[in-house]
Amino acid sequence: MGEVVGIPRALLYYHYYPMWKAFFESLGGTVVTSGETTRAILDAGIKVTVDEACLPVKVFHGHVLALAGKCDYVFVPRLVSVERRAFICPKFMGLPDMIRCNCSDAPRIIDSCINLSRTTREYVRAVLATGRMFTRSTLRILAAHRRGRAALTRYGRCLESGMTPDEAMAFMGVAPLSDELAQRAVAAASSTSGVARGGGGAANVVIGLVGHPYIIYDSFVSMNVIRRLREMGATVITADMLPWAVTEREAARFPKRVFWTIGRRLLGAGFHFLRSGTVHGCLHMSAFACGPESLIGDILEREAVRHRDVPFATITVDEHTGEAGVLTRLEAFVDVVTRRRKQ
Ligand code: SF4
Repeated sequence: MGEVVGIPRALLYYHYYPMWKAFFESLGGTVVTSGETTRAILDAGIKVTVDEACLPVKVFHGHVLALAGKCDYVFVPRLVSVERRAFICPKFMGLPDMIRCNCSDAPRIIDSCINLSRTTREYVRAVLATGRMFTRSTLRILAAHRRGRAALTRYGRCLESGMTPDEAMAFMGVAPLSDELAQRAVAAASSTSGVARGGGGAANVVIGLVGHPYIIYDSFVSMNVIRRLREMGATVITADMLPWAVTEREAARFPKRVFWTIGRRLLGAGFHFLRSGTVHGCLHMSAFACGPESLIGDILEREAVRHRDVPFATITVDEHTGEAGVLTRLEAFVDVVTRRRKQ
């Protein structure tokens, strides 16, 4: 068995895990993840972080600690930018430093710096430097990178077909496959509308769900928002299920270009849900103490006022949020959406 690389199941795991896994495994490494978020993982993260840190960053710390003793390295990239003229939230830039400072028990860190804001040169250098931890062969590293990119493309197609990240990864065979996940993935892939349908509930409405992937797809952090909505009979569409061109076009309606990559995508998705008539309601889920969300949420609320025919609600989660409270709000929201639809 080669070197074991641990990938925390938090933050941009939901965007890039298939690519990272394919890359490290092509270089002979073995990849392990930290499992689903639990109360114990969150509590471990809270213990080592400052109060001001946002909930997803606290959760990430807990996942890193959960990997201690299970891997040789933990992958904590320093994500600065993943596209030209745009950036990822500054918390991602300091993540390796935060982990080093706060988690003395953490395994050795691979902190490749990903910065595509100006040129690809720095990115290529980072890929090669990371690959050289496993092999000296540049060709092998470049081939591993190509395999990673191909996995990411396949993953993006699965998401656009209406699968959640868990379903897409199960469908691709890059994550453990439970019977329930397999069924949901196949249902999503064969859905005629391209979007996974809700379960046997009574609502029969389509809800556009806007939120950072590491919030809405983390079943513990989001209090199972997607599953709950589906159980109420709603069909859920997220930003990742929309083509990139759609969210870019919608976000471009805002007079100033939003320079956070994920924030721009969320804004575009929110605008699309509110303006296009493709959903019956739009739900925004955000994390307490998130800087970018305070701006994106405010813009979306103002837009929602202009489109009163689409019910809009925001749910903010933090480490004290209780499942019962979220469930009550979800039920009330679906109720409003269903009644509005009947009217
Ligand atoms: S975008 Fe918000 S939730 Fe995400 S890491 Fe930054 S501050 Fe935290």
